Amino acid sequence: MASLINCPHCGVRPREEFTIRGDAGPVRPAPDADFGAWDAYVHLRDNVRGPMAEHWQHSGGCRRWLVVERDTFTHEVFAVVDAADYTRVPVAKPARARKAANPAGRRGGA
Ligand SMILES: [Zn+2]
Repeated sequence: MASLINCPHCGVRPREEFTIRGDAGPVRPAPDADFGAWDAYVHLRDNVRGPMAEHWQHSGGCRRWLVVERDTFTHEVFAVVDAADYTRVPVAKPARARKAANPAGRRGGA
């Protein structure tokens, strides 16, 4: 059975018309934020099994960016809103804390 997404602009469309960008949760740091904040924003993502909010583009339709709230395990879609109208309220942030970024920006090893 094909997955269907209810685009707020185009109506119910097949999932194949959309491009998934990923987690809609991260908030862009201030331009003068430290390296750790930018490193976390650019590179660190949770691998959620369950409810999650993601950025999807209706690339085969209106080309608008949307936020799709869905269960990554069951593929059930809970809500679809235009990204411009989305209020960042994490749908399902895991209880565990993210790894602390290395403020010196160094990788392991010598
Ligand atoms: Zn659309």
